[in-house]
Amino acid sequence: MKRRAIYPGSFDPITNGHLDVVERAARLFDEVIVAVAMNIGKEPLFSAKQRREMILPAVRHLPNVSVDSFDTLLVDYATQKEAAAVVRGLRAVSDFEFEFQMALMNRSLAPKVETVFLMPKDCYAYLSSRMIKEIVRLGGSAKGFVPPFVETALQRRLKKGARR
Ligand code: ADP
Repeated sequence: MKRRAIYPGSFDPITNGHLDVVERAARLFDEVIVAVAMNIGKEPLFSAKQRREMILPAVRHLPNVSVDSFDTLLVDYATQKEAAAVVRGLRAVSDFEFEFQMALMNRSLAPKVETVFLMPKDCYAYLSSRMIKEIVRLGGSAKGFVPPFVETALQRRLKKGARR
């Protein structure tokens, strides 16, 4: 049986840190679904469709990775996809408490779905979508932190004076 993993997140937008985690997961599992969470509470900068469309070219070189979105409870989505695991990325200690809580809550909701944590390359350990948006909003460059077409989309959307 194929071992499938779900990598869920807001991906608003996808960064090279997320991609580092996707590549690691793609080596560990037969199939990986990068799953864009539609209900993320906070108002996203990009729509779920736009977020999916930015992930697609970034994972094209990985034949066992696909992109989807979901608006249900994560464990229900993972069960529906018959996933063996949910992958999450762990950066600094600051991620730990929230991720630990979520993993244990998910386990109590769906005991068969295991959460697997992967650490990115150290150069991405401080990278977040939120910080990238802040940098571009203030006129800085996100080069090296996001794929080039994501940088273009961010510049278009956020650069001072750009229409939202
Ligand atoms: P969420 O809003 O669900 O936290 P994100 O899109 O911010 O979604 O992140 C999805 C997952 O990827 C989370 O597990 C997050 O910790 C992880 N992640 C985000 N940025 C990085 C990074 N630079 N390196 C490794 N993991 C990351």
